[in-house]
Order: sequence, then structure tokens, then C-alpha cells
Amino acid sequence: MPDGLKELNKQIQDIPALLGIKKIPWLIAGPCSAETEEQVMATAVGLAKCPNVKVFRAGIWKPRTRPNCFEGVGEEGLKWLRKVKEQTGLLTATEVANPKHVELCLENKIDILWVGARTTVSPFIVQEIADSLRGVDIPVLVKNPVNTDIGLWIGAFERLYQSGVKKLGAIHRGFSSFEETEYRNKPHWEIPIELKRLMPNIPIICDPSHIGGDRKFIEPISQMALDLGINGLMIETHIEPAKALSDSKQQITPKELIELLGILKVRDTVPTDVLLKAQITRLRTSISRIDSRIIQDIADRMKFVEEIGQLKQKNKIPVLQMDRWESLLKDHIEKGLDKGLDKEFTKALFELIHTQAVKKQF
Ligand code: PEP
Ligand code: MN
Repeated sequence: MPDGLKELNKQIQDIPALLGIKKIPWLIAGPCSAETEEQVMATAVGLAKCPNVKVFRAGIWKPRTRPNCFEGVGEEGLKWLRKVKEQTGLLTATEVANPKHVELCLENKIDILWVGARTTVSPFIVQEIADSLRGVDIPVLVKNPVNTDIGLWIGAFERLYQSGVKKLGAIHRGFSSFEETEYRNKPHWEIPIELKRLMPNIPIICDPSHIGGDRKFIEPISQMALDLGINGLMIETHIEPAKALSDSKQQITPKELIELLGILKVRDTVPTDVLLKAQITRLRTSISRIDSRIIQDIADRMKFVEEIGQLKQKNKIPVLQMDRWESLLKDHIEKGLDKGLDKEFTKALFELIHTQAVKKQF
């Protein structure tokens, strides 16, 4: 871990512990957008019945991809969040996208702020938000940037930390892509996993609503997140999802959220059973042995690649022969399928190996 990150990670203050949250997952729930006082209050009253929900979310200023849609109720909605806190005891959270938003949230005693995915991509705006938080002790959650750049995510934590914000958390909401995918935003689980490796003290909350884009995906994505050891979930919840003014397809009712919690399984993170521990150790040893073999095999493969590269150069044969590469890839995918390996996985694996092999031949 780079030295700067080590120090940052050491200084992180544990938001769930500070909020007295002991149960995993800790839940942030509430509508995509605050729309009316009635909608906000009815949703909050429903959510207050769910013991895991400690934080009520609602977007006040909405970053919409296209203009001319509902862009949030603005400042007025902050008063409704205040009322939520007074009447239900839930803490409140909303998105801030500029220093004015920060100022208004602080004035209205909002408990937690979050930086949205479209803001995390912009170092200028993140810096402005960080500057406006200097000397303010408030938890700030940062959503991953819309593109798969972990550096921007880390950069946002660094900017906030340099302004003195130590109560930091991450929200994994998936990444947009040009290709049509089943999900609204591809999860790319490797990115939050890498963030956890680099900054283990930053709690990670998964947002299955924005990853899936459809309520039918909330359960499987939440379960996957829990199985990967994620600390919390942010789930968009609306008293009447069908009537929501934004993200209507991906919201569930408070009652459905309570049902969902009954279905999700939280795994023990540390096995205590001695026999189980021994079994896990045995399997891990086998896995590590195979990993070493894979590394050795790839290194051997690269040696042959270098040799063939020299031969091609001497005989003026081009490095890349498309038909050979295409037939290799097809063959590998078929062999992989035969052994139960996912097509996309085999393809990605060999594309990576092949790219490196082509580089080696120049
Ligand atoms: C939201 O949480 O409502 C939101 C706008 O999310 P994101 O920044 O992840 O798009
Ligand atoms: Mn939303």
C-alpha cells in the first residue's frame, strides 16, 4: 500500500461504530428523490419499522443524465428530512454536488453527506466540496465514479481527508458502459475489492438499486455483496415505487425491504469451528499451489513467445496473425466451456495473455 494511503487508512474513523450500528448489513434506505412531504414521511415511517435501517436517504438535488426531467425539489426537501429525524429517530443522508448544497445541508442538520457518482469523476468539484467541509465533522460517503477508474475514487477520499474529513465510507453503485448489459451499471466487483485491499478501514456499502436498475436484481446483488464481505447496503425505497418521479423501476416499498432482509443471508466472517478452519486451510493450500503453477506456466509461455518473436523478426513475419489468434481464442473458449468455464471469463483471460504476448514481441 502506498505510504499516503496507509496513513489515511489509519486515521479513518469507523462510521458504523460511531453511529452505534452493530448489525451487518447496516442499511441506508429511502427514496431516490424526496418528492413531497407526505411521500418522504410515509416512506420514513415504514422504514423505521425495520431494525437494520439506521439511515434515511433521499435525493434533494438530482443529477439527471438528460435535461427536462425531475431534478429534485431542492432546499425545501431538507425540512422534510429534518422532520424525518425528529419523528422517527432515523439519521438522514443526502447527495451534495457543490459547496452551496453542503452549506444548506449543514444548516438543516443533515447527518451524513454523499458525493454522487457523477461528481466523483470531477476532481475540481470534489475539491470544492472538500474545501467547503474544512473544519466540519460529518460523515461523508463517496460513490464510485461512473467510469472504472479506481484512482478517481481514491483521489476523492484523499481530497476529503486532506480537508480534515475522517469519517469516510464508500458506496459501490456500479459502472456505466457503452455495451448493452443486463444491469444498469456493471458491478465490476474487482474494483470495490481492490479498494478494500488498499483501504481496509473504509466501510463499503453496496447500492444494488443503481447497479441493477430493476427491483428484481436487488436481492441477488445484495446477496453477492454480503458474500463478498461488504459492510452495508443502500437500497432505494419508496412508499409507492410505481409513482416515483425518478428511478421508479429500481425502488421497493418499505414492506418489501423488510421481507428482503428476511431472505438475505449474512455469513460469519471469521470461522470459529476448528474442523471448518482446517478444511479451509487445506483448500487454500491447494489453491495457492495451483496459482504458483499458473504463474510458472505463464512465465514459460512468455519465454516461447519471445523466441517466436525473434524468429518472426528475423524472417520478416508480422507479429500479429489475426487468423491464428482467432482460431486459438475459439479453441480455448470451447475447451473452457467443456470444463465448465464461463465463455466471457476464458475470453478475457486469453485476451489479457495475448496482449502481453504481442507486446513481448516488439
Ligand atoms: C442516487 O443515489 O440517487 C444517485 C443519483 O446515484 P448515483 O450517483 O450512484 O447515480
Ligand atoms: Mn436513484
